Amino acid sequence: MQSYKGRFDPTRFEDLTVTVDFHCQSACRFCIVQEGMNFYKGVPFDVYERAVEDNRRTRRYRRITFTGGEVTLERKLFDYVTVASASQSFEHIRVQTNGRRLADRSYAKALIGAGVDELFVSLHGHDAATQDFISQRPGSFDEAMRGISNVVELGATLITNTVLTTLNQAHLADIVETVRPFRPARMEWWNYLPMEDYADERDLIAPMSTLAPRLRDALASCRRHGIDAAVKYVPRCLLGEHERTQDNTQADVVIVEEFYDKYPKFACLYEAKCEHGESCLGLHHAYITKHGWERDALTPHPRTTPWEEPEYGPWVGSEQSAGGHAPAIDQPRWAALVAGVDGETGAALTEIVVQRRACVYRFAHGASSVDIVLTARDGDAPALARSKSFNLHYRNARGDDHATLTKIVHAAARAIVARDPGNMMLDLRKGMVGPGSVRGRGSRREG
Ligand code: SF4
Repeated sequence: MQSYKGRFDPTRFEDLTVTVDFHCQSACRFCIVQEGMNFYKGVPFDVYERAVEDNRRTRRYRRITFTGGEVTLERKLFDYVTVASASQSFEHIRVQTNGRRLADRSYAKALIGAGVDELFVSLHGHDAATQDFISQRPGSFDEAMRGISNVVELGATLITNTVLTTLNQAHLADIVETVRPFRPARMEWWNYLPMEDYADERDLIAPMSTLAPRLRDALASCRRHGIDAAVKYVPRCLLGEHERTQDNTQADVVIVEEFYDKYPKFACLYEAKCEHGESCLGLHHAYITKHGWERDALTPHPRTTPWEEPEYGPWVGSEQSAGGHAPAIDQPRWAALVAGVDGETGAALTEIVVQRRACVYRFAHGASSVDIVLTARDGDAPALARSKSFNLHYRNARGDDHATLTKIVHAAARAIVARDPGNMMLDLRKGMVGPGSVRGRGSRREG
């Protein structure tokens, strides 16, 4: 069942997500950080300050999002927001929330006054009965709705997020009706990902046969009302005329590494046949275990380019906003590191694959090719060479033209070592966390 999708690691370059702490006053039945709640710590403030200072210099991220847990429970959230706001290096400051504390208008006003301009509010039911059952907290729907109302009246941008489960699949279009009067800038629909209950003993994984038609209805409703929509973790071919709403990208997340070790893996029977095999994740393994491969329901779009097993996993075509369809070498900062190597060696730079943990340059000369791979600098790890930010390696030397391939490797290494400004980060999360990122089991609060 394992496929390259098991190495799911897409990155949205312009967004940085910062975890402030992990506590919550709701107990959503599907919560993907349930296991980490009261266990993981947020990002240490000094580490966070350094990241913001870095962004002030580099302008790498346009948006910063604070999440947890329920970050509005944390008094220190204001300290985090103030630092981001004072840096003037982010175009948007977003808070991800269940919306309940925003029901307090003075609180909402203070948060927006501190610099938050986007509220990403979870709404999993269209009415109190559904939402309160899911959150296991009576009154949570009414609070969230008052919070949403305050956000809009105070002039901030509203984005909603709905996690798709068996508990709300029948009411997705109803949720659009509930939210519509508040004119959200966007409604996001994230399919439930089990992080602990892989056997789905809670019976939350909705079968595509019932979920997909209901989701398409909701997306049609969004379109009718001029609401932007985005869908994660649902097969693209099941979205019908709304297939372009699929968006599986993720922000760079400052969070403990262990969290990602538990992230579900994905696969699709047709990935090698389908035009969208590289960007569409297909189905997660827990889904396949429970409901099968959906052999008859999935309809691959015939490929126009030959399939190659993507050795490095999915990647992003551009670091420019909405640049997903940009050419494979539209990565200006990364391309600049090896500019001229092609001319010097007579080779062509055919691809730049930038991921969270690595940057890969693929050079080709006739039938020969080689990949130059950058990973985060680590003085203890073996490397062909080291620049200020990176360890350099080469891989996949193919073809017989060894002389040219050697020339390419040397020229690329020289160029990168000479030009690396020292502030280009791969795997930022590792630099942001450490042994202090988790509480001892059994302790509920940082001492
Ligand atoms: S066939 Fe598979 S890869 Fe293609 S769109 Fe459908 S689920 Fe995605």
